[in-house]
Amino acid sequence: MRWRDESTIRIGRSIVSPTTLPAMPEPITAITVYCGSALGRQAGYEACAREVGRELARRGLTLVYGGGGIGLMGTVSRSAKDAGGTVVGIITEQFLKLEQGWQGCDELIVVPGMRERKALLESRAQAFLVLPGGIGTYEEFFETFVGLIIGRHPAPIGLLDVDGYFDPLCQLLDHAVEEGFARPAARSLVLRDTDAVRLIDRMMRLEENLPDPREMLPMHGDRERRG
Ligand code: AMP
Repeated sequence: MRWRDESTIRIGRSIVSPTTLPAMPEPITAITVYCGSALGRQAGYEACAREVGRELARRGLTLVYGGGGIGLMGTVSRSAKDAGGTVVGIITEQFLKLEQGWQGCDELIVVPGMRERKALLESRAQAFLVLPGGIGTYEEFFETFVGLIIGRHPAPIGLLDVDGYFDPLCQLLDHAVEEGFARPAARSLVLRDTDAVRLIDRMMRLEENLPDPREMLPMHGDRERRG
């Protein structure tokens, strides 16, 4: 996802990002799913990934993901394809060489490294769905979340929770707000639900109601100590 209006303001040698411009999200036609390259301990994780694949296909939304054929990544992509959906995988040369790339993708894009991969995962979709996963999934979530806060993209982010998997992450985010290090408007953008259908519906609605990007900016220059 990119801003529909790519205009930037040049001040001297600096480019000012469009964070001060109104958000103009594009309609959602593709969703990037971040999830584990492992299956996790509980069967519920895999069931959730399967449902997401089916649901994206049912809605005619393209699944964009990391291109792997293993773990929840493999489950979500196979499920979307089996249900008649379109799947775009974005994988690094390293992972492809390890023969973990899924050849069943409609489009499998091979990139040199993780940075290129994450940039494409972000730019090829208009919304982000995070399923249970490990460190790689957390990294992708945080990078995309920060991208939303600083105005790099206006795409909604949803956490699809299974058996409280995201409790600790949400507590961490709430803690940052409570301690005055994150803005409530930014925090409110991370949607969380236990139901894939409901969560995607909420993301679709949020797309039309994103808060003013200025309310989400980090607290640079905020000299007030919050009590
Ligand atoms: P994790 O949540 O730690 O399992 O990490 C998920 C991330 O692991 C992905 O987004 C990738 O960065 C990486 N990864 C591991 N195996 C693969 C694979 N076969 N294909 C693509 N990415 C993979």
